[in-house]
Amino acid sequence: MLSIFACLPRLHQTLIGCFSALIVIAIFFLPNPKELQGKEKQLEIGRHYPLSINAEALSPGVAIPPTATLRWEQYQVKSGESAAVLFQRIGLSSRLLYELTASDPEIKQQLTRLRPGDELSFGFDENDQLVQLRRSLSTYEAFMITKSEHGFTAKLDKKEVHYQYNYAEAQITSNFWNAAINAGLTPNQIMALAGIFGWDIDFALDIRKGDTFSLLYQEAVVEGEIVGKGNIIAATFTNQGTTFKAIINDDNGDYYDETGRAMKKAFLRSPLDFRRVSSNFNPRRLHPVTGRVRPHRGTDYVAPVGTPIWAAGDGVVVKSSYNRFNGNYVFIKHSNTYMTKYLHLKRRYVKTGQRVKQGQKIGALGGTGRVTGPHLHYEFLVHGVHKNPRTVSLPQSESLRGQAKQTFIANAKIRLQQLERFSHLMYAKR
Ligand SMILES: [Zn+2]
Repeated sequence: MLSIFACLPRLHQTLIGCFSALIVIAIFFLPNPKELQGKEKQLEIGRHYPLSINAEALSPGVAIPPTATLRWEQYQVKSGESAAVLFQRIGLSSRLLYELTASDPEIKQQLTRLRPGDELSFGFDENDQLVQLRRSLSTYEAFMITKSEHGFTAKLDKKEVHYQYNYAEAQITSNFWNAAINAGLTPNQIMALAGIFGWDIDFALDIRKGDTFSLLYQEAVVEGEIVGKGNIIAATFTNQGTTFKAIINDDNGDYYDETGRAMKKAFLRSPLDFRRVSSNFNPRRLHPVTGRVRPHRGTDYVAPVGTPIWAAGDGVVVKSSYNRFNGNYVFIKHSNTYMTKYLHLKRRYVKTGQRVKQGQKIGALGGTGRVTGPHLHYEFLVHGVHKNPRTVSLPQSESLRGQAKQTFIANAKIRLQQLERFSHLMYAKR
């Protein structure tokens, strides 16, 4: 080693000597880096520390209108109010309105198309001059008018919408509606959920304490804020021990089970809106007519007079009439096999011989005929024999086929897995 050093040119020897000395100094004489950190400089876990942010660096590279100095006034367009009337109401001149509409045909269009309820925001500067005018078009969009050197200019102010999945689940303790509201669902989502499973479950009479449901749904997010809860992507519902699963088909927006069979079936389980039916949780309730525990040949739904009654399936009205026992009644023949009957109606909306679609309003609930109180008496007949409409096995629903089926099943699997994962996360949090 030393002999190699001796062979090196003088300059190299000097340099190597110098660097070695530096390294030795560095190792022995520089302070330990840990000692350099002052006590107060060590960050603690769980404590918040203020950070200075360069606001200018965050803003986009375009000139920002001086909104900070503007005074904003908000007005809602009243019924029958034009821009001219609105301007007059809030004390702005017709000359200003003319300036606005003459600046740009798009501005003119926006201001002549005002509808009642539209939100307009007026931004004034310190001289009380109108500098900006904003017409809200939707949660994500606004039409923005800004004063410039030459009149007014306009642009569409569009916020970026992101979509994400969210999850909700619940166990029913009092009723389905309350459980769903507590789980954070919107009324639209609740009705959609009841709609998806409405061919399998009678939401009016067959929901029980302990039933559970879970769903994966789409959420619209604007600037980090949830602005809309939308489509149900996948859902499960366990009713009295039986679990149903449904997944949306992106091709048509309809729901299918994990094997590709349509959730939509030939018959709705209940021919009216479950929210109107009063006796959700009392399977042994007395019959409203006979006062006995067991209902007779049909199913009775107690709900307010006037509640719309729906055709349970597509078919032909074979009888729409009145007698003193049935009151106003409607019979629908769905095929050679199936017939449904609706009794004691207050009103009938269909005539004998008329074709009806599933879910179509055929009458209004009433108390006509031999009854002690208003209710719908509903019968379901298979080959002329009375069956319980809530438990009778229905004809197989349509199934997806070919490539569409394969794609759907693959997608459905992923979505049900996502649902599972969310469910585990929720379970871990509890
Ligand atoms: Zn009855």
